[in-house]
This record gives sequence, structure tokens and C-alpha cells, in this order.
Amino acid sequence: MAQLILMPGKERSAMKRHPWLFAGSVGRLEGRARPGDTVEVLSDNLKPLGRAAYSPSSQIRARFWTFDADESVDDAFFKRRIAQAVARRQALPELRGQQGLRLIHAESDGLPGVVADQYGDTVVVQLTSAGADKWRNAIVQGLLKATGCARIYERSDSDVRGLEGLEPTVGWLHGAPAEGERPGLVIDEYGVKLAVDVVGGHKTGFYLDQRDNRAWLRSVAADKDILNCFCYTAGFSLQALAGGARSVLSIDSSGPALAQAQANLALNPQLPAERAEWQEADVFQALRDFRKAGRSFDLIVLDPPKFAPSAAHADRAARAYKDINLLGFRLLRPGGLLMTYSCSGGIGLELFQKIVAGAALDAGRSARIVRRLSGTADHPVALNFPEGEYLKGLLVQVD
Ligand code: SAH
Repeated sequence: MAQLILMPGKERSAMKRHPWLFAGSVGRLEGRARPGDTVEVLSDNLKPLGRAAYSPSSQIRARFWTFDADESVDDAFFKRRIAQAVARRQALPELRGQQGLRLIHAESDGLPGVVADQYGDTVVVQLTSAGADKWRNAIVQGLLKATGCARIYERSDSDVRGLEGLEPTVGWLHGAPAEGERPGLVIDEYGVKLAVDVVGGHKTGFYLDQRDNRAWLRSVAADKDILNCFCYTAGFSLQALAGGARSVLSIDSSGPALAQAQANLALNPQLPAERAEWQEADVFQALRDFRKAGRSFDLIVLDPPKFAPSAAHADRAARAYKDINLLGFRLLRPGGLLMTYSCSGGIGLELFQKIVAGAALDAGRSARIVRRLSGTADHPVALNFPEGEYLKGLLVQVD
């Protein structure tokens, strides 16, 4: 095994068990290693620090698989780590029995670059690092063993693969359906049925991280006029209808997402379809148009896509968050509620709160945070990996 030797003084982050080694902290590679190969990591005075996946084209030059310098990284390693991740979720009552569940949350489950989501009997994996890509087969075997699932589909088409020198890869890894056939996956989320398109949908098909927030919306929706911005396949909208909303207007710029959203409503004949309105539009424009038309709402959900994938995009992203939040505040009736989110890694909670505060100020609204909204327990944040906390949300009540 090749050895990756750090620059003097650069072992501190590894000692704190942070899983990333940046290019600037790496001194030299002794021996040969191809992308994704496991290397032994040592401090400059040759103290062993653990074993990591080497990624020569990435700024994150290596990602630790283990901080135990004697632990082998082999098929059994992946079986163990995957079984642990699945068991961790089974130990939490709120996650037991969920049909849609994140099984592996990458670094926070000790598996850098590996995401796996389960929808019923199908698991979708996304591999975003050179190391994860290398161990594809072991990961598939580990998932089969830990879950007994019928099918595994790979959705490794995220842009971040490019940073690791990897091409996009999608396709069935296990239990492929017959040619041309797509498995009709439907999950039940707190009493609402949602179809998940693992092949054509966003990311791995669905945004499981908002499950609890959707359920919370249901609990306050009664008799409210609700605006759901960036609705995707209507997860929030359907819970709002289930909670007795007077009306739910849902906006997304994606035609296919809206088509799926409406199909999802049809899967739930118990819900009052006549209270739902759909609009294919750019949220930035639509909110301005509502203002001109004098429309207002009791509750607004703002769950935009990642405006800042990294800190380098933070400035432009901050302006976009400010803009939609300002427009949102202007459309709220007295006493109204704003559920506002950022899923940008490049925007921390403190900054997000400042942006929302600035938006309220500019909109001339006095408002207070009444609850902090975060991701679900199947998207844990490892204490040694604060970067895992990508989803930040605030529930804000205006006067
Ligand atoms: N709230 C959703 C997830 C939102 S994902 C849920 O609970 O499932 C973000 C969505 O924003 C995507 O569906 C994407 O199509 C949409 N989107 C991105 N930019 C947009 C824009 N400018 N205007 C409207 N929708 C947009």
C-alpha cells in the first residue's frame, strides 16, 4: 500500500477525525496509487493516522475510510460499515417503518462519497468520490446483505463527480427490470402516497430530508392559504392538503416535476384536489407577479435548490436567498408563517439567519424565529464532520 505523508503540522485535522485531507496538507506520496486506491496516511514524523482513498485530481486529495491504522479496507469493511448505518436507523423509532429512508449519509456514516436511499424494495446509490467509485461492488453486496432489497439503481450523475475525475454513471446494479420497464415505486410518507422516479427524478429521486418538515406543515395547515415554492413532486403540498389547508398553490419551474406532482395528488383520492392549484413558473418572477396582483398567503414554504454548492458561490447565492425571502415576507398576511430553507453547503446557519433578517427588514416586516427546521434523523451530522449539516431552515412568524 502506498503511503501519503502529510506536511509538518498538518495532522491536526486527522487527529480530530475530520475525514478530508486537502491537497495543501499533503507532503508526498511514497509508492504508486491510482485514483480511489487505499493509501496509508502518516504524519511528517511517520505516525500512522489511518487509511484513506486517494484522489489525485481533487482538492480533497484523500478521504479517510478509517482512523484505525490497522483496519483493512476490503469487502468485509464495507459490509460492516453499511450494516452499522442501517442498524443505526433501525434503532430510532421515528425511522422504523419508513418506506423512504436514507440508509447511508456519506461522511456522516463513515462512508465518504457514498449515499444510499431506500424506496420500498429499491435502493438508489450515488457514488461521488474516487474511493467510493472503486468499491462499487463491495457497496452493492453490503447493501444487499443489510437490506435484502430487490433492486439497486445507481444515480452517480452528480456534477461533483467531475471534481474527482469521474464520468457520470447511471444504471441498474442489481435486479434490473425488463427492458423499457420502470418499476412503479410509490412510498407512503405519513399517510400520503408519493411516486418516486429513481431514473428520471432529481438526485436519487426524492428529497427525504424534508420528511419531518412536511409532517409539521400538515399539523398547522388547517384553514390556511398556503404557497409552496419550489414544490418538486408536491411533498409539502400534499401534506398541507392532508392537514386541511383552505388552498395550496404550488410552483416549480420544472414541467416534469409538476406533472409528477399532479400525478401524486391523483394517487391520494382522500385529498381535496379542488383546493390545489399548480403553476409552472420561475419563483423569482411569480412572487413579483403575486405582489402586483395583490395576492397574499397565511403560510409560505421556500425550499429552493442549492444556490451555493460551495463557499465560492456564497455571494451570489446570498443575493438570491435575500430576494426570495424579501418577496415572501411581502406576501404574508399579518401573523403569517414562513418556512424558509437553504440546502447550500456554502451558506452556514448564521449567515442564512442574517440573510433572512435582512430580507424582513427590507420588506418592512417585524418577525421572529419560532422554530429551527433541520433535516431528518436519517441524514445525521457526524460531530467530526460539521459540513454534513447542509440543510438549514427557519420558521418565521411575522407580526
Ligand atoms: N420542496 C421539495 C424539494 C425542492 S427541490 C420537496 O419537498 O420535495 C427544488 C425544486 O426547485 C426543484 O423541483 C426545481 O425544479 C425547482 N426550481 C429550481 N429553480 C427554480 C426556479 N427559479 N423557480 C421555480 N422552481 C425552481
